[in-house]
Amino acid sequence: MFERRLFQSEHEMFRTSVRKFIEKEIAPHHAQWERDGIVPRELWLKAGEAGLLCCTVPEAYGGLGLDYLFDVIVFEEMARSGFTGPGFLIHCDLVATYIKTFGTEQQKQRWLPKMVAGEAIGSLGMTEPHAGSDLRSIRTRAVRDGDDYVINGQKVFISNGQLCDVVVLATKTDTLPGGKSITLFLVDTTLPGFKRGKNLEKLGLKAQDTSELFFENLRVPADSMLGREGEGFILMMTKLAQERLAQAIRSATVAEHLIDITVEYTSQRKAFGQTIGDFQNTQFKLAEMKTDAVVGRIFTDHCITQFMNSQLGEVDAAMAKMWLSNLHCRVADECLQLFGGWGYMWEYPIARAFADARIVKIAGGSIEIMKHIIGRSLFSQSTGDVKRRSRAKNTDTDSAVTDTDRAIA
Ligand SMILES: Cc1cc2nc3c(=O)[nH]c(=O)nc-3n(C[C@H](O)[C@H](O)[C@H](O)COP(=O)(O)OP(=O)(O)OC[C@H]3O[C@@H](n4cnc5c(N)ncnc54)[C@H](O)[C@@H]3O)c2cc1C
Repeated sequence: MFERRLFQSEHEMFRTSVRKFIEKEIAPHHAQWERDGIVPRELWLKAGEAGLLCCTVPEAYGGLGLDYLFDVIVFEEMARSGFTGPGFLIHCDLVATYIKTFGTEQQKQRWLPKMVAGEAIGSLGMTEPHAGSDLRSIRTRAVRDGDDYVINGQKVFISNGQLCDVVVLATKTDTLPGGKSITLFLVDTTLPGFKRGKNLEKLGLKAQDTSELFFENLRVPADSMLGREGEGFILMMTKLAQERLAQAIRSATVAEHLIDITVEYTSQRKAFGQTIGDFQNTQFKLAEMKTDAVVGRIFTDHCITQFMNSQLGEVDAAMAKMWLSNLHCRVADECLQLFGGWGYMWEYPIARAFADARIVKIAGGSIEIMKHIIGRSLFSQSTGDVKRRSRAKNTDTDSAVTDTDRAIA
């Protein structure tokens, strides 16, 4: 059987402590949080205290400065538990990473120690009601006024939206009709003009607060800009591979776990004088899923290694995201089938896993956008000369290509 070789003993010790944290602090309460549509703020403080948040943030900013595998362990153990309420991944892998990589010293000092401690919760505000995959069409506008920018607009589907204290917010700063300059701001949600909308009702991820956010004449100091004016789209593109890798890691883990619990269930459940697991159909289905899960895991671990060596390209990340998202959804569906009617009951983890699975083909760059990136790479070499000539004449050709590189969780 395939054995993973990525982790050392210190990683495995950390894994044990993450599992204990989940069993003690999350498992007993998650059903209630699903009914509430949100997890309590105290959970974030406890997770911060236990060292689960933003493991790679350097000591200078209140973190432990650990390697990426510690973050991977948190994503994996959360995924394995099936408790999808706490939005740790977006907070750690996206928001903290943006601040750590692109923030000024002052921004890092202001936000990172609080994010590590769970005192400040991060969210990423990009999607708008009329613009998801096509990020360049966002309408939230930031207009310079003296030393400030005044922001007006609306976001939707924002994870951690009810809890967030800081939003990495995508805005337009140019004033041209159809202008394309995207600029990111770190928005403090205590500022006047910030309003939270509805906590949206969803098919799955029931305990996660996914919300509308409104910005009405919200005034932010110019030094809350993340990166430079007009640089937002490029900054978002820079982090895409990491975002997609995290999604793949999560899906690989869920697929493995669902196969395990299905083997366990079908080994007990009987029909026609034998266990469900004795039927050849059950064994064949699980054999296929297990093989695909191992293939997916090996590729995901390869991508983790590449990422840690600063060598993970956007195409490999897109392939990992696409393969594992598809596998995740297929395994959830086929395993549920093997549970029969009990698999349709909410009290069974497989039912929740099925409902939670569907989002992975949409968010973090949809399956279609992943195919676009992979497909484009197949033709880029043969058409490279043509494109280079075209770019020299018309920069819009290039931006049309990057328009579909969705940068979202
Ligand atoms: C639970 C949840 C959590 C989310 N969290 C966040 C968050 O924290 N922050 C945030 O900013 N956003 C978040 N999102 C938004 C998410 O990233 C978007 O839903 C996603 O990017 C798709 O955008 P859309 O919904 O506008 O779909 P659309 O862009 O309208 O796409 C509709 C369909 O058309 C397809 N399509 C679009 N463009 C192309 C193309 N060029 N070629 C082929 N097909 C195409 C899409 O793949 C999709 O199937 C979240 C969404 C959900 C549901």
